[in-house]
Amino acid sequence: MKTSDLTSSQTLKVQCPTCGASTGQRCELSSGGPRNSAHHNRKDIAQTRLAKLSYMANIRTAMHLLIVIHNDEIKALSREDFDAVKELRKTLQAARDHKASLIDLYREYVTVSGR
Ligand SMILES: [Zn+2]
Repeated sequence: MKTSDLTSSQTLKVQCPTCGASTGQRCELSSGGPRNSAHHNRKDIAQTRLAKLSYMANIRTAMHLLIVIHNDEIKALSREDFDAVKELRKTLQAARDHKASLIDLYREYVTVSGR
């Protein structure tokens, strides 16, 4: 995602480090009037915020899937269906690996971008 793809409402969700505009307020010109577009640094911060929210949403979804699989595992155990438990163990491992890879991607984003 490029900063130019940001909507103005996404940009307004963060404060501007350049002119000091609060969240929800437009950036200001040095003369005090409103700017037509947000300062570059503000767009940059808004973009980072969105990227982090997206990473976290994906991780949250992956964690929710783990809960669903664990619940299925409990149901299979209560039925003493050990074949199903064995299959669910494979599914669980794949889901754990997927979650770990999402966390690695997030860590890489934070580490490489320094954000
Ligand atoms: Zn500004």
